[in-house]
Amino acid sequence: MRRFYSFINLMLIFGIATGCVVKNQRQLESNVGEKLMVATLFHQHAAEMKALSYQAYNIATERLDEILSMQPAPANPAVVLDLDETVLDNSPHQAQGILYNFGYPEGWAEWCKLGEAPALPGAVDFLQHAVDRGVAVFYISNRKEEFREATKTNFVRENIPLQSDAHLMLRTAESGKEKRRLAVLENYQIVLLIGDNLSDFHQAFDHQTSEHRAFLADSLKADFGRRFIIIPNAMYGDWLTSLQDYNYLLSTEELDILYRSLLKGFNYEKPTKF
Ligand SMILES: [Mg+2]
Repeated sequence: MRRFYSFINLMLIFGIATGCVVKNQRQLESNVGEKLMVATLFHQHAAEMKALSYQAYNIATERLDEILSMQPAPANPAVVLDLDETVLDNSPHQAQGILYNFGYPEGWAEWCKLGEAPALPGAVDFLQHAVDRGVAVFYISNRKEEFREATKTNFVRENIPLQSDAHLMLRTAESGKEKRRLAVLENYQIVLLIGDNLSDFHQAFDHQTSEHRAFLADSLKADFGRRFIIIPNAMYGDWLTSLQDYNYLLSTEELDILYRSLLKGFNYEKPTKF
């Protein structure tokens, strides 16, 4: 009988030890996923996210009316918007990736071709207002040309106005948006830019380090809420990839270590665990 209990004890100790290792490993692997999950939950369920989107588009509407009432009024005014996470909500693609363990670009074509991305709160009212006021609305997006028809179907489904095919400027050779902004400027005056990524506003942000992006944001502080209207995106963006120096090959484990190293905690010599 004693021998039997010893055997049980041994099995228990072995089981607990193995369990701890597996748990720690799983914990490490799942940390990055959990962070993404929380960001995605925020986008899909936080009323605060809705409120932020309404807030951005309310400010955009006010600013547009203010600019249009200036004397002299701007000739050929245009607004330029990014699409993904600015006008269209792609969080279902993000959510599917978390649930089935894949990430962009996997599943992106399938998602785009569905043409089912919901419009972000406040976007359609703003866009219709701009069109009603005679403003040209340009969408400068890094979606590829192959998704043009599906994106247009998505627009129809969500009542997103499109003045002509030329107003939907998709990605061609390069992801930088400056050339496309300059093309708009040939015939229009861009009075507002709306996006979720700082590169949607100015090329100075393209492919910059996290520190330099922060410096530029400080330098341009007077433009936010005036010329530049930003929509929050905690799920992805240059804010996140700049942290890893745009290295897309890092493993989940490496990302976890990197993210932890970047967290700013209390500045104690000996960190205290509460
Ligand atoms: Mg975007």
